[in-house]
Amino acid sequence: MTTVRTRIAPSPTGDPHVGTAYIALFNLCFARQHGGQFILRIEDTDQVRSTRESEQQIYDALRWLGIEWDEGPDVGGPHGPYRQSERGEIYRKYADELLQKGHAFYCFATPAELDQMRAEQTARGETPRYDGRGLTLSADEVQRRLSAGEPYVIRMKVPSEGICEVPDMLRGTVEIPWDRMDMQVLMKADGLPTYFLANVVDDHLMGITHVLRGEEWLPSAPKLIKLYEYFGWEQPQLCYMPLLRNPDKSKLSKRKNPTSITFYERMGFLPQAMLNYLGRMGWSMPDEREKFTLAEMVENFDIQRVSLGGPIFDLEKLSWLNGQWLRELSVETFAAEMQKWALNPDYLMKIAPHVQGRVETLSQVAPLAGFFFSGGVPLDAKLFEHKKLSAEQVRQVIQLILWRLEALRQWDKEQITGCIQAVVEHLELKLRDAMPLMFVAITGQASSVSVLDAMEILGPDLTRFRLRQAIEVLGGVSKKEGKEWEKLFAAIP
Ligand code: GLU
Repeated sequence: MTTVRTRIAPSPTGDPHVGTAYIALFNLCFARQHGGQFILRIEDTDQVRSTRESEQQIYDALRWLGIEWDEGPDVGGPHGPYRQSERGEIYRKYADELLQKGHAFYCFATPAELDQMRAEQTARGETPRYDGRGLTLSADEVQRRLSAGEPYVIRMKVPSEGICEVPDMLRGTVEIPWDRMDMQVLMKADGLPTYFLANVVDDHLMGITHVLRGEEWLPSAPKLIKLYEYFGWEQPQLCYMPLLRNPDKSKLSKRKNPTSITFYERMGFLPQAMLNYLGRMGWSMPDEREKFTLAEMVENFDIQRVSLGGPIFDLEKLSWLNGQWLRELSVETFAAEMQKWALNPDYLMKIAPHVQGRVETLSQVAPLAGFFFSGGVPLDAKLFEHKKLSAEQVRQVIQLILWRLEALRQWDKEQITGCIQAVVEHLELKLRDAMPLMFVAITGQASSVSVLDAMEILGPDLTRFRLRQAIEVLGGVSKKEGKEWEKLFAAIP
């Protein structure tokens, strides 16, 4: 019998997402339950958006949760490299194989030509899709254009009619019509593979037997299945996991729910509780108990117990569960957890330099700097009243700065200042118009240490959380405002 091998294949393009941890957990449980292996592969073929910092954050966040992998970029293994950016040669070879077998073709159409093609299709009332123009080129023509060094992509052929049957471990057979599939680009003009090619080649070469991934990938399954067929490879078992949802049933999004694992760490959730809660997403223990450990989950794991009704990721429910976990710790462990969370020397050393010069006794530290040891802070709308700005402008300034900070990758004082500066300049305001608002939102009080230092120390998750809270306390953003402000925001250089 072949050994079960599962994997998680995150793209390191942003904060480590709870959805990644959720899919990782189920892959881990499935592998462990079958005495198999769980692999971590980094899918960083999007060179513009992928960063090493984000990759490191994924490792740290998963490890914090207690998720360990048997093979991966950082731990090695017999099927490396486990980072797609280091596997370029391999993809090239397999793309060539598809070209040779006639399953793929070169396309030299420029982005402008493709735009025009789509515009014409839309004008005719058709769904825009690639029209197969590359297929009409003769072999000589292709050779001539290749020799001339023209930029090209490699696309896969797909059937134009019929149905693709996707075997899913949870849904049985899902039928997807071929005419919904585009002739997918496999190799981009920059010579890098797309997700489709790299993912199939790697899952095969890494011996993956079961692929548990999010259901947002289900519509594109036919293309993957076709690629396995073209290569003549055995296809892994497929399992499309239900997507996590906000309490209003929409797809989990950071606009409505914090989605970064680091947020939950900074808020003082226990990793065991967090993992427990993720295990409750669409899955339950045979005896329906709410609180369980990873070991208990593995022991009782059965993928068929996953239910397809979109699991709701609800902060209140998670907090309740975390409370259960906290209360059941011994007092000694509880005290140790407090210490580990924010009463540790590293964190205190960040705060101390900003507090030391502002107190006369140590007992003044807590009232002055208590907000460093809190998730949100109690906010009083009155403190946001502004001499110069209207109530609407106040909300607008905070919202635009929040959006700007959401996109910020390097979190330090200078970069944070840059974000605020960019927004105020665009609104034709001064830094000193915005800073008092930031101050109140972040510290919840009228005076304390410098707010820029505070933001840097609190980190991106808690800073953004507090700005979001401030907007809420001030009445939120209406749909109309949201639309207008987004336009305004997009225009900020
Ligand atoms: N790189 C993909 C992602 O970021 C992997 C999806 C898959 O599991 O195939 O979600």
